[in-house]
Amino acid sequence: MNPLFSALPPTIFDVMSGLARKHGAINLGQGFPDAPGPEFVRRAAAEAVMHGLNQYPPMAGIPDLRQAVAGHYGRRQNLELDWEREVIITSGATEALAASFLALLSPGDEAILFQPLYDSYAPMVRLAGAKAVLARLEPPHFRFDRFMIEALITPKTKVIALNNPLNPAAVVYGAEDLTLLAGICVAHDLICVCDEVWEEVVFDGARHLPLIAMPGMRDRAVKIGSAGKMFGLTGWKVGFICAAPPLLSVILKAHQFLTFTTPPNLQAAVAEGLNNPGDWFETMPAELQRSRDRLTAALTSEGFEVLPSAGTYFLNIDLAASGVKEPDRDFALRAVAEHGVASIPVSAFYEENPVTNILRLCFAKSDEVLDEGARRLAKARG
Ligand code: PMP
Repeated sequence: MNPLFSALPPTIFDVMSGLARKHGAINLGQGFPDAPGPEFVRRAAAEAVMHGLNQYPPMAGIPDLRQAVAGHYGRRQNLELDWEREVIITSGATEALAASFLALLSPGDEAILFQPLYDSYAPMVRLAGAKAVLARLEPPHFRFDRFMIEALITPKTKVIALNNPLNPAAVVYGAEDLTLLAGICVAHDLICVCDEVWEEVVFDGARHLPLIAMPGMRDRAVKIGSAGKMFGLTGWKVGFICAAPPLLSVILKAHQFLTFTTPPNLQAAVAEGLNNPGDWFETMPAELQRSRDRLTAALTSEGFEVLPSAGTYFLNIDLAASGVKEPDRDFALRAVAEHGVASIPVSAFYEENPVTNILRLCFAKSDEVLDEGARRLAKARG
């Protein structure tokens, strides 16, 4: 057996969701919305299942969706993408990440990853035979700087991964941070794997800036997106990769042996959603922002110190600043078992030297669930 996997503990998401089920708890842990997702996209999928595509689609994705992705990024992010050479469809961003790391890294290479860290990055880097070199970002701002990154670069460094907006920190990196990172990538000849699955879930009127648009990055950024996050349909697992042809052609070969294709009916529905979104990309973040504000207000009135959330489905509580003496994991385990509210301790997103005073909560839930969740968290704090 491969120790890379046999030695892995169960993920915190499995642990907390299992405990939430066992204790009949309110689940503010795992990140998926309560709402069923946009009806026009779900209808398009049903239509495609009944009357459309159900056989193997082309390996790179159905042309309609690849064109729709290029069109969407043209309209929303001013990117000019050649859909035939620069866009492919994958089975979720998870597969896109795996294909990218497997294709871009060789045994002995190094990849710089920022903690807090989405859970699949390091195992996939290691599966490629490369070393995961961990940088550490800290609350409340979770910013990186030149010194922190350059101290980790060696002649073996090939890849750096950036998740923006950042789950779980709910931070959105803007022009200043991205210019800095682009400059480092160019100076050290690095490729950046840009996990931008949360790009449409940004608040307060902000617009997502893709790293691939920064100077020097057009040929060294691999941009990853997810229809699951764009449309609040997290189980759909339809992802996209956009990159210059020399990078994408190799990534496509890894995709060929990972999943080969992605359900064509779901691809057709996502194409419909991207081509005719109506006001979805305005109402969806506006509604989530309202939920963010509601949970923030409820928690603040209970005396919790809430960190700012500029994007994603999440906000974070600073436990130490809220009068909680326990580490995040202990608090989360006690809150779910004794007070019926599940959350995610942010220490789980660190492999080494964890930050232990931050608790992540998902606010993509109904008002009643958010209000009751805040009440139960207040009881857990005592
Ligand atoms: N990256 C990040 C940062 C995520 O938060 C998620 C989903 N939670 C993914 C990747 C995976 O996306 P998908 O469901 O499309 O595989």
